[in-house]
Amino acid sequence: MALRTIRTIGDDILTKKCKEVKDMTPRMQTLVDDMFETMYETGGVGLAAPQVGVLRRIVVIDVDDHPITLVNPVITETSGEQTGSEGCLSVPGKAGEVTRPMKVTVRAFDREMNEFTLEGEELLARAICHELDHLEGKLYVDLVEGDLYDVAAEPEEDEEESEEEAEEN
Ligand code: ZN
Repeated sequence: MALRTIRTIGDDILTKKCKEVKDMTPRMQTLVDDMFETMYETGGVGLAAPQVGVLRRIVVIDVDDHPITLVNPVITETSGEQTGSEGCLSVPGKAGEVTRPMKVTVRAFDREMNEFTLEGEELLARAICHELDHLEGKLYVDLVEGDLYDVAAEPEEDEEESEEEAEEN
């Protein structure tokens, strides 16, 4: 596995529509593995292939220690609404308020090209919508209500601290 370079806003590749994956080749599987490694390294909860410069319909998500690979994902159902803060590894140091569905159902293929259906609520629903937008060449900044704002970029440190606290208790 290897870390990939994350493309940032202003890079043309982030505005392009991605192509379907027809065959899950070893090369594509390596891409999936690299995307997970890159996402964990940067402290993100989701990453789409165009963010590492590959125009394929592949997304990785992990909001609660459950790694999810979505190949050729399609949202089949949405319900409800949530408005909350959203950020993106391709827009470093920024966040903004975005309204998304509260619940989504997505149909996709996994790393071995087995088809499955997944329901996501709250943060997972938000992550699915955000990452699938990347496959259409869309960034969340176009959906932000109000202005983007600056965020402190040290979430990993906080996580370590809370883990230490948990161990002490
Ligand atoms: Zn993003």
